[in-house]
Amino acid sequence: MSCCLECKAAVKGSWVNCPLCGCNLERRTTNTEQNPFPFVPLRFNREKGFRLLMIFTLISGILFLGIEALWLDQSQVLQLAVFGIMSLWIVVAILIRKRRNIAKSILYLLVMVSLISVYLDYSLEWNGWSTTYVIPVICIFTDLALSISVNIIFPEVADYILYLLIVAVIGLLPALFLIFDWTTNSVPSLLSIAVSTVMFVSLLIHYRKIVLYEWKKRMQF
Ligand SMILES: [Zn+2]
Repeated sequence: MSCCLECKAAVKGSWVNCPLCGCNLERRTTNTEQNPFPFVPLRFNREKGFRLLMIFTLISGILFLGIEALWLDQSQVLQLAVFGIMSLWIVVAILIRKRRNIAKSILYLLVMVSLISVYLDYSLEWNGWSTTYVIPVICIFTDLALSISVNIIFPEVADYILYLLIVAVIGLLPALFLIFDWTTNSVPSLLSIAVSTVMFVSLLIHYRKIVLYEWKKRMQF
């Protein structure tokens, strides 16, 4: 039995901090007691998430530096890679903190940022940097961030599986940029198409039952 000096409450079990106020508990007895609450495991695995993030960061870092060395002769790519990897970590952090319907917000964010970049590009004497770099890069890293998060927060995946699929489809849009010749460099768009295709197909394969169920549910209205 422990005692909270703040709330004067007696607390059973192996609590270190008071479950009411969070203050340190003063231990009264030393014998071990059965914890009154069942042990509930965390629904996501911090280590797994961190490991996946590091792997994706390394892969994308190498990928971008490789692109720079092979195809381009400019330092912009490094900035884009840093920008993309920062977005990756931020998106995963948001998804882990707010696990309900956040994919919807991410979808809106993706669309908003894309439209803003096109507008800026257009207003600053159009030279295609938004369709060449910004949108494909955002799509790639959104796909990666969502793929990592799906692996960590599997139980809630049904809540946002359709948004994930929409995000993957948006990542295929750079194909239009290539068709209409809106890019000065085709590599980011090609990468976005590749990553989105992989994400779309693997979502369909992994979660086909959930996808079908959610699809039917929505089609009833
Ligand atoms: Zn207390």
